Amino acid sequence: MDLFSYRNRILHCEDVALPALAEAYGTPLFVYSQNTLLHHLRQIQTAFAPVQPLVCYSLKTNPNVNLCRLMYEHGAGFDVTSAGELYRALKAGGTGHRIVFAGVGKTDAELRYGLENDIVFFNVESEGELFALGDVAKSAGKTARVALRVNPDLPPKTHAKTDTSVKGVKFGLDIDTVLEFAQRAVDHEHVRVVGLHMHLGSPILSVEPYRQGLEKGLNLIEKLRQQGHHIEYLNMGGGFGINYKKQEALPATAFAEVIVPGVQKARCKLVLEPGRFIVGNAGVLVSRVIYTKDSGGKHFVIQDAAMNDLIRPTLYDSFHRIWPVAPAPGLPAPPEDYEADMPGTRLSDVVGPVCESGDYLAKHRALPPVERGDLLATFSAGAYGMAMSSNYNSRLRAAEVLVDGAKHRLIRRRETFEDLVRPEMEI
Ligand SMILES: *Cc1c(COP(=O)(O)O)cnc(C)c1O
Repeated sequence: MDLFSYRNRILHCEDVALPALAEAYGTPLFVYSQNTLLHHLRQIQTAFAPVQPLVCYSLKTNPNVNLCRLMYEHGAGFDVTSAGELYRALKAGGTGHRIVFAGVGKTDAELRYGLENDIVFFNVESEGELFALGDVAKSAGKTARVALRVNPDLPPKTHAKTDTSVKGVKFGLDIDTVLEFAQRAVDHEHVRVVGLHMHLGSPILSVEPYRQGLEKGLNLIEKLRQQGHHIEYLNMGGGFGINYKKQEALPATAFAEVIVPGVQKARCKLVLEPGRFIVGNAGVLVSRVIYTKDSGGKHFVIQDAAMNDLIRPTLYDSFHRIWPVAPAPGLPAPPEDYEADMPGTRLSDVVGPVCESGDYLAKHRALPPVERGDLLATFSAGAYGMAMSSNYNSRLRAAEVLVDGAKHRLIRRRETFEDLVRPEMEI
């Protein structure tokens, strides 16, 4: 479900017409629907309610402090992957008892920062990290809690760049040797292994990887307990897919049906780290057409959002639905299936102003004719949009607006030219 809908041929976010927001805040503009976001968070909380999970929002997905605070106030904790993300989690009101920390390359300073804040546990991804954490904990006079992040070595399940549980990626501990490693950690004075973690990759559109991962996980938990570890947590990570094209994603209940019984069997507390599922379809990117042109047998729609605003198409060949915000009378209505051949449309490449041939939001896309000045909406842009944005080509990062019913608030202002050069030294 999302609360972006056409009313009288004008795209609205909840009760706010997008052209009004583009007018007020300029473009490119990320627009988020508060009630869509909370609805998706609640879907996960409800589906997994029988095991009272700790839902740790994956902060990297969309790190705006206002969105994080909103989720915290509605019961979420945070999954962080860097000291900067931990800083944001705390800034959003988060406290250690709802924070977990992942990542293959945590520095001593990051480990110390997590320890100081008494986070639930570190998702540890290598032997080196475990012993470094032990040293840091010792010097801080603390004992660190750890979930071993294992790479369960499953068949490929998503784009090669976002699959984290196949052999040969950098993530996690090798499932074939994790027990030998765990044995060496049994009597560590400053590290306690309290959980098992796996994050399988993203986006995942089937329950099968979770089923397979769980099976391996349950087996490991049993063996870890036999070694003398008190395993209290099973962390199944994030990865739940969303509807980018049509209705391809599964509801949270489908994942719960597989995961909940496994967690009960393991007698563990469940931790989840959803990101995309919560914010992905809670956001759109609104842009304005600057020019159109025909060249080399192609039709180009050049608009003011670019790869620096939304890099997913460039990086992962991702599909985002794109449609005019206010299609003129007589133009086709937004289709159910954006990939079908549609009368009244023409195949267009939707590109931005950045000096890269890889700068596009869509290629060979059926779009109604649009003109200079028209607004476009790129859907499902709430996750890994602003989060992965940059200043490439010295472009100013977009503004972000949060809509709640008929109210809208700026939650990040558009950058200025001064922002661009502020950290640079005058020498
Ligand atoms: C990125 C990430 C997630 C979130 O993935 P989504 O697909 O956005 O749910 C969760 N856990 C870890 C460790 C991650 O790196």
